Amino acid sequence: MIGNPFLKAVPVLYLIENGGYEAYFVGGSVRDHILGREIADVDIATSALPDELKKIFPKTTDVGIEHGTILVHYKGTPYEITTFRSEAGYSDFRRPDKVLFIRSLTEDLQRRDFTMNAIAMDKDGNIIDPFGGRQSINKKLIETVGNPDERFGEDALRMLRAVRFLSQLSFSIEDNTFKSLQKHCNLLENIAVERKTVEFEKILLGRNRAKAAELLVKSGMYQYLPGLVHHEKPLTQFSARLSSELDLNETWVLLLYELQLNGSEIDAFLRGWKLPVQKIKLLKQLLSLLLFRLGEEWNEESVYKAGLNNALSCERVYRTLFPEKFNSTDRIKQIFNSLPIKERHELNVTGNDLMAWHGKNPGPWLKELLAEIEKAVIYGDVQNEKEKIRVWLSNLKSEKN
Ligand code: ATP
Ligand code: MG
Repeated sequence: MIGNPFLKAVPVLYLIENGGYEAYFVGGSVRDHILGREIADVDIATSALPDELKKIFPKTTDVGIEHGTILVHYKGTPYEITTFRSEAGYSDFRRPDKVLFIRSLTEDLQRRDFTMNAIAMDKDGNIIDPFGGRQSINKKLIETVGNPDERFGEDALRMLRAVRFLSQLSFSIEDNTFKSLQKHCNLLENIAVERKTVEFEKILLGRNRAKAAELLVKSGMYQYLPGLVHHEKPLTQFSARLSSELDLNETWVLLLYELQLNGSEIDAFLRGWKLPVQKIKLLKQLLSLLLFRLGEEWNEESVYKAGLNNALSCERVYRTLFPEKFNSTDRIKQIFNSLPIKERHELNVTGNDLMAWHGKNPGPWLKELLAEIEKAVIYGDVQNEKEKIRVWLSNLKSEKN
């Protein structure tokens, strides 16, 4: 029996077949179906050319027509449909010099990366598996279609994809495929950083992430990832500590911690991965929280400044590093819930109030005083009410005088 996302797409295959062409489900969806995993979206391969598909379906979008891929919109759902193709000449180790549209399914399956990804399924649920993909899946093995040396030589990204699938599916890499990874890892030099980052983040999120990170070291691939070249030891430590409790940002923070970089190196490292500016900012913030946490327990001020989510994130990384230490998660929540204000804008006094009370013009004193009031409110030294703050300030002033 074939499941829901496929059933919904069966009419699409029918329509293509009625037009006189072949059409099959292919790629990750078929693999995941055989594995009994949840299927996100189905990919379809066909003998029809993009122009021929456009005659069958009134609504399509061009997404990569030069590679033979178009989006077909059917009953409100977009389907990525790719014409059978073979690829020729990989002089740059990352993309074919030429894509040839063909009419043979087997040849199309042959150009795919791993046997488990080179299985097709027709609309009735019949499996077409010329390269032993099901056998690999049964053995939980990632193996290339054909000679791994050739396949990684054609497109070096496949090496990172192998580790990514190992992480996501908890498979192993077949021996020859692994030896080839070790032999050709330097070809990763030809791959754009952005594409490496996509795969690396998927590696960090997979269930088998610890093993996958270990494999990046063992295969030597880590040397061709941004900023990791001389960091075998910290990376090994990192992989040993990678727990599935951490989310993606927390995982990056753990990595930063293990690398023991200094201020400007941290920035350069994260920019090396071409991460978005906002994300870099957050990661740096989380790292400095972690460094603070190494020396101190949480208190009102630090929880307030961090904010609840960042404090909890930081604590998760801390606990990964020091599982034997006291777990302050509940403490953080308790402190946060009891804070009289959660953010600065909740403070019931403004710069204008202070200038009026003191009869002074704006200046650095204003910011300092606001910070002092904020701290007093957080610690409960004064209630967050304008009049109470005014009185508290004037008492403070007379104490000082
Ligand atoms: P996911 O579940 O992450 O979508 P997937 O296997 O579907 O995994 P995609 O990147 O969506 O991966 O690619 C779809 C299919 O295209 C793959 O299953 C594989 O058959 C083929 N493919 C993708 N990238 C490559 C590549 N670099 N070399 C060869 N074949 C590839
Ligand atoms: Mg896919």
